[in-house]
Amino acid sequence: AKGQGKNRYFWFESSMENELRFRNEIETGIRRGISAGEFVPYYEQQIDLETGKLVGFEMLARWKSPELGIVNPTIFIPVAEEIGVIAQLSEQLIEQALTDAKEWDPNLTLSVNISPVQLRDPWFSQKLLKILVKHNFPPSRLEIEITESCIHENIGVVRSMITSLKNQGVKISLDDFGTGYASLSQLRSLPFDRLKIDRSFVGELTDEDSCEKIVSAIISMGDGLKMPITAEGVEDERILEALQGKGPMKAQGYHYGRPESAADVRKRLEPKGLL
Ligand code: C2E
Ligand code: CA
Ligand code: CA
Ligand code: CA
Repeated sequence: AKGQGKNRYFWFESSMENELRFRNEIETGIRRGISAGEFVPYYEQQIDLETGKLVGFEMLARWKSPELGIVNPTIFIPVAEEIGVIAQLSEQLIEQALTDAKEWDPNLTLSVNISPVQLRDPWFSQKLLKILVKHNFPPSRLEIEITESCIHENIGVVRSMITSLKNQGVKISLDDFGTGYASLSQLRSLPFDRLKIDRSFVGELTDEDSCEKIVSAIISMGDGLKMPITAEGVEDERILEALQGKGPMKAQGYHYGRPESAADVRKRLEPKGLL
């Protein structure tokens, strides 16, 4: 038993060492990847549930790392935030996304995720406006997605940021709604254009009674606050049908396809005359 404990200790130590090494590799990789242009936008379809039509795309970042392959944002976004390169990375991705989206039908919207770190920058809305002007992209086609954790941090700063973005014509969605701690009064005092129901509720909609109740509650809350709804994580036909009885909304999820590259989006849009 003694020997085992010792082994376990060594194993623990070396796994920590490995973790540190991995973390270091990610950090250097991210910095290098930014200058090498290894970060690319992928796109997830957003569908109007009433008409079944494509109405826009959410941009989701991917890292095409020469060493690691295609890396998902849950791995590199938190690190990019920590080492202070998230704004640079995000601006690079948004510029690419605007270039892509300019080729699409002008009725298709583009949603982008913005980190709380970026929202803390008092110049954020000016920076964004500058990028929009540079690409001659109508602000009304752009939707910014922020999470509840932003509100939590400093509601005054967030409110003035949202207001100045909205004054430019940009739309603001509250992402992952239901997972954070936003109070109803905070929600009422912040002029969001849309609520996105977190996929943890939508995904269990047809299996868990509690999730069905939460989804319904969020929908009627959105109704009361006059904020339209997007349901994320629509994984199959059954979830889709369950949502269809709950009023107008947008939907997205694997049921409609996995997030895809700009080239694949073009292939999808061309036959529909949306290019
Ligand atoms: P999110 O904004 O909540 O995006 C939805 C995530 O759910 C995406 O994961 C998407 O691929 C995945 N998803 C979509 N449909 C389904 C479904 O039907 N079932 C399941 N199980 N999952 C589905 P992804 O691409 O790995 O992104 C993870 C998170 O990373 C995003 O969550 C977002 O918070 C963040 N993120 C992505 N791109 C950016 C970015 O450019 N900047 C920032 N700050 N964050 C980003
Ligand atoms: Ca999102
Ligand atoms: Ca989300
Ligand atoms: Ca999420």
